[in-house]
Amino acid sequence: MTQSHAPAPERAALVETLRERRAPFVQIRHDIHAHPELGFAETRTSSLVAEKLAEWGYEVTTGIGGTGVVGRIRRGASERAIGLRADMDALPIQENTGLPYASTVAQTMHACGHDGHTATLLAAAHYLATDAAFDGTLNVIFQPAEEGLGGASRMIADGLFERFPCDQVFALHNAPGLPVGHFAVRHGCMLASSDTVTITVTGRGAHGAMPQLGCDPIVASASIVMALQSIVARNVEPTRAAVVTVGAIHAGKAGNVIPESATLQLSVRALDSETRNLLETRIRSIAELQAQSYGATASVEYKAISRPLVNEQKATDLAIDVMQSLVGKTGLTMMPEAVMGSEDFSWMTEKLPGCYVLLGNGVGSVGGCTVHNPGYDFNDEALPYGAAWFVALVERYLRQG
Ligand SMILES: [Zn+2]
Ligand SMILES: [Zn+2]
Repeated sequence: MTQSHAPAPERAALVETLRERRAPFVQIRHDIHAHPELGFAETRTSSLVAEKLAEWGYEVTTGIGGTGVVGRIRRGASERAIGLRADMDALPIQENTGLPYASTVAQTMHACGHDGHTATLLAAAHYLATDAAFDGTLNVIFQPAEEGLGGASRMIADGLFERFPCDQVFALHNAPGLPVGHFAVRHGCMLASSDTVTITVTGRGAHGAMPQLGCDPIVASASIVMALQSIVARNVEPTRAAVVTVGAIHAGKAGNVIPESATLQLSVRALDSETRNLLETRIRSIAELQAQSYGATASVEYKAISRPLVNEQKATDLAIDVMQSLVGKTGLTMMPEAVMGSEDFSWMTEKLPGCYVLLGNGVGSVGGCTVHNPGYDFNDEALPYGAAWFVALVERYLRQG
């Protein structure tokens, strides 16, 4: 009887080693999960991270971009430097998992798995400090406030890459629906830019029975909402992706009163900067000129949440090689399309070549629940794979000799 087996991937043993050593990091993950902190308030989490890194011999810098932490190890003579990044913040959600380590803080929960990202990078950082051979500089970057609050930009503004120069920077995100032990990635643009736009339409209030005495901001707003739909349909090149969603409208309190003003809130997304800029120009012009045509005025406030996340060619080739060395070709999904979600890490890949990958969190009832859901939990079985990827990246890029 013969059985054919594909040879084990070259670095499968590294995953095994990190699996054997995962217990203390799973414990850290559960501790962080039980004590979640919102963006820029990650004081307990960042103290824990800083304490562990110092214990393992890292040169630790705290308070970068608020609660950010960077750990550095320099070895050998090589000028090469690599950055590995994890996010630490939780979301304003009331957890309902019923887990023994469920959140102990009301309305605050690790529903995006950033507890898992922090623990995964700590597991890698520990192995890299104690067992790995490399020549060059390793920077482990723990960023605050990924969830729309601009933690990456704050760290960059605080001199992150001047104080800790990196040739390339890497990050991962857990992906529910992708089996544990699998990774997914794509070259080029992987996630969209995201802008939050607030349009305030100001008219003139009046009695609902005497509209001729006022200027109705609700009618002008309705017209703006409809006209905005023409941007993606008529202005954006049909082969490019873009989203203009009006997710909130607030105006008035009574059916017989014409209010003074109305407010619209938009989520605006694109996969390239040119399209992103086109959307901004058209949104401003439609809002202002539609309002004007009704005798009202509109002010448009743009807030950039993230840039298009672009995976640089060489960094992505390296990330792919390393993933395949851990889980083989069958464990890697090449994503055919970008996703219109967004990620704060894009501010880092805008500055430096980098790559962002998805780490399988599991399918079905174990790990398959979507992120930002009150029932979500990071899957501890995924931790050794993520940690092994970080370790193997460093060993490959900062190769000795
Ligand atoms: Zn999230
Ligand atoms: Zn997230």
